[in-house]
Amino acid sequence: MSATEKKDLQLVKVFIRERPWTKSENDLKRICTIQKIQPTQISLKCGNMEKNYTFDRVFDKTASQEEVYEIVVSPLIRYVLSGYTCSVFAYGQTGTGKTYTMIGQDAALNIEFANDPSVGMVPRAAADLFAELATLQVEYNMLISFVEIYNEEVRDLLVSDSVPLRVFDDPDNKGSTCIKGLTEVLVHSISELYDFLNKGAAERQIASTNLNRLSSRSHTIFTIVLNIREMTTFDEETIKIGKFHLIDLAGSENIGRSGATEMRAREAGSINKSLLTLGKVIKALALKKQHVPYRESKLTRILQDSLGGTSKTSMIATFASTVDAFDETVSTLEYAHMAKNVANCPTVNIN
Ligand code: ADP
Repeated sequence: MSATEKKDLQLVKVFIRERPWTKSENDLKRICTIQKIQPTQISLKCGNMEKNYTFDRVFDKTASQEEVYEIVVSPLIRYVLSGYTCSVFAYGQTGTGKTYTMIGQDAALNIEFANDPSVGMVPRAAADLFAELATLQVEYNMLISFVEIYNEEVRDLLVSDSVPLRVFDDPDNKGSTCIKGLTEVLVHSISELYDFLNKGAAERQIASTNLNRLSSRSHTIFTIVLNIREMTTFDEETIKIGKFHLIDLAGSENIGRSGATEMRAREAGSINKSLLTLGKVIKALALKKQHVPYRESKLTRILQDSLGGTSKTSMIATFASTVDAFDETVSTLEYAHMAKNVANCPTVNIN
């Protein structure tokens, strides 16, 4: 296979991000498993085991939200404005910074703290879109939706006590799906968007408390749909539709290891099903297979029209560099490596 052919197989841009150590990790003087880190390479070592990986970018624990945004998310804004679909996934073990990266620190989820350095990718992307749209001086409307997938059930995070929603094939658009009864709200300002983001984050928390489940076991999809009205030189009206999915995936850890109860084991099965199917879909698309198994999980069904084709997809895989997390870190980086370039990754079998 030629270098160009191999490059074509990179369907997903893959970035990895190290979480800073907590105070207790620092106090315990844990041994760091990172041996060497470079802008696109990382070398891990634990005992006799050594692993080396190459990614589109490696962010160490000093990287700021702004830096991650500028490199990973900001380049996608112009595609959304041009009517393309873009997706950014956060993948990794629970507690490694997926929600921090995508949404930000809880306290900063308020318009008063919109300039706080801890603000995550979702509010930054929305603020950027509003700013760009203001300079373009076009007519547009921005719709947002926020859903959670838990145990293969889809819930609306923009309404209280959502019932599970049904995903069905879009009769008007082959290859796309719709979610029956999904709330899509029109937002006119970043401040309104913060209100809905807050509401959704709170609903996720309430649902996990009421239903006795861990929020880290659910996937969330925050979607921005942008309808931009333009006039052609012949005074005809055209509508461009850009879509941006920002996805905080459930924790990728194998909870079987920590002694799962029946309920936890069921959750783990559903999480793994979605994450494994996502891997299979990426692999099938990159290898240009005829059959892409979108239908095997709710996550990939909902994102069916946003993976492959002209869509742009990026993944941020988060990890912790302590010895305790080494096995999970390796499995995160193996998954991320597979997503980056399936052709070069014979060690991971996701079939
Ligand atoms: P996950 O969503 O992967 O379960 P969280 O985003 O909840 O993990 O992060 C776990 C903890 O680590 C949180 O207290 C979060 O604020 C903190 N954290 C994660 N990444 C960073 C970071 N890059 N900088 C500062 N704190 C972080």
